[in-house]
Amino acid sequence: MCCATGVGGDWDRLAALREEHPQTILASYGLHPWWMDGAPADWKKQLEARLDEHCAGIGEIGLDKGRRCAVPLAQQAAVFSWQLDLARERHLPASIHCVHAWDELFRILRGREGQRLLVHGFGASGQIARELARRGVHLSLGGKLLGMSQDRAQAILSEIPMDLLHFESDFSGPPSAPAPTLEPCGVPLVVECAARLLKKDEASFGTETAAVSEAFFSTTIPS
Ligand SMILES: [Zn+2]
Repeated sequence: MCCATGVGGDWDRLAALREEHPQTILASYGLHPWWMDGAPADWKKQLEARLDEHCAGIGEIGLDKGRRCAVPLAQQAAVFSWQLDLARERHLPASIHCVHAWDELFRILRGREGQRLLVHGFGASGQIARELARRGVHLSLGGKLLGMSQDRAQAILSEIPMDLLHFESDFSGPPSAPAPTLEPCGVPLVVECAARLLKKDEASFGTETAAVSEAFFSTTIPS
């Protein structure tokens, strides 16, 4: 299981959690757009120190033009690009958070072909899913899928090749979705929903997509 974080305080908690469960937890550290304003002045140094200790990836990092984020987009883009460069330098996968900023994301991703990138909590459209997949960007689906119309969910799922498809527990969608989708134990609910929509056998579909995630974060999986 890979746990992504967004800010310094979380980094400490995640490091402790990984120490407790070294065979289960893969840690991913990054500065999320929501927390950029409150980040310590030396956050870059702190992040690099985390990566030196242990890490399976960089993230969550990204862009957010939603109401929850007041950080100017230019500032977000600079912080995001710096972290993407760091991921490339260290051959690490990056988990991307993107809200209403797809044009900017595609602009920043230009020239980054070959980097291992994953857009998490995807819930935009089939067309954007297709554009991301065309660039080799992985997509991760969470509880949002359960609150979508069947048509929309199917439009998204049908655009994501199996070797780019992941599932996750992070979720900030409609309150009608089952509460467990916020916890790792809720991931099977999302997998079950996707398998049903794609008319696949749930057990083998779950095994196949878990293998995709394992390969994505493969360089640092504990032996
Ligand atoms: Zn996110």
